[in-house]
Amino acid sequence: MKSIATKLTDVQTRISEAILHSQATQKVQLVAVSKYHSVDSVRQAVAAGQIAFGENYLQPALEKIDALSALSLQWHFIGPLQSNKSKAVAENFDWLHTLDRLKLAKRLNDQRPQHLTPLNVCLQVNISHDPAKSGLAVADVIPLAQQISQLPNIKLRGLMCIPMQKQGFEAQKQELLPMQDLLKQLQQICPDADTLSMGMSGDLEAAVAAGATMVRIGTDIFGPRPDPKYNEA
Ligand SMILES: *Cc1c(COP(=O)(O)O)cnc(C)c1O
Repeated sequence: MKSIATKLTDVQTRISEAILHSQATQKVQLVAVSKYHSVDSVRQAVAAGQIAFGENYLQPALEKIDALSALSLQWHFIGPLQSNKSKAVAENFDWLHTLDRLKLAKRLNDQRPQHLTPLNVCLQVNISHDPAKSGLAVADVIPLAQQISQLPNIKLRGLMCIPMQKQGFEAQKQELLPMQDLLKQLQQICPDADTLSMGMSGDLEAAVAAGATMVRIGTDIFGPRPDPKYNEA
């Protein structure tokens, strides 16, 4: 079985090759999604040079953050967030990828400790118009961004999506391409917004070709998650 270090290198190589093949000009940051994997697995990834980690579930995430607090890691909350759990995210994370409502944004803004830099956030977009998926309708993105950009303790960095699990590079890329236009629109009101968070183990190449600047990879770094029912995003 390949080590986590080897799989990390493999994923970095895939990213570089995807950039080359699609003649992409953006930089692509790798967020290693460690949900359902152990502190020890995270340590192995850190030893191999990985700094940014993504988590979906608050309690296990907080345990990992605490256990690894001696290391300077970057923590990304990438799961759905209930408003009553916003404080722990405001206090412990560097990024939230799934912001989708003003009420939550205001709470995070109030709860972000003053000694920390503003919380980096992405607005989650339901790019596939899938009623089963969370995220904002495309038409709601800019109006919400306008309001959120006024909040001083939150830094609106860009957009995130979880597309339908289509097969094949072209189909995946076509589904993700509208995110690029939407980021351009966002940049009209938020010139600092520079992030497109998209691309998972199964669609990394298509996401990079469609302009991703941050890919969130779990399975291809840490292996399958322990319980198959957690394998859907
Ligand atoms: C689990 C998860 C990922 C990682 O998915 P893999 O297919 O294991 O790479 C990425 N993004 C989100 C939002 C997730 O929940």
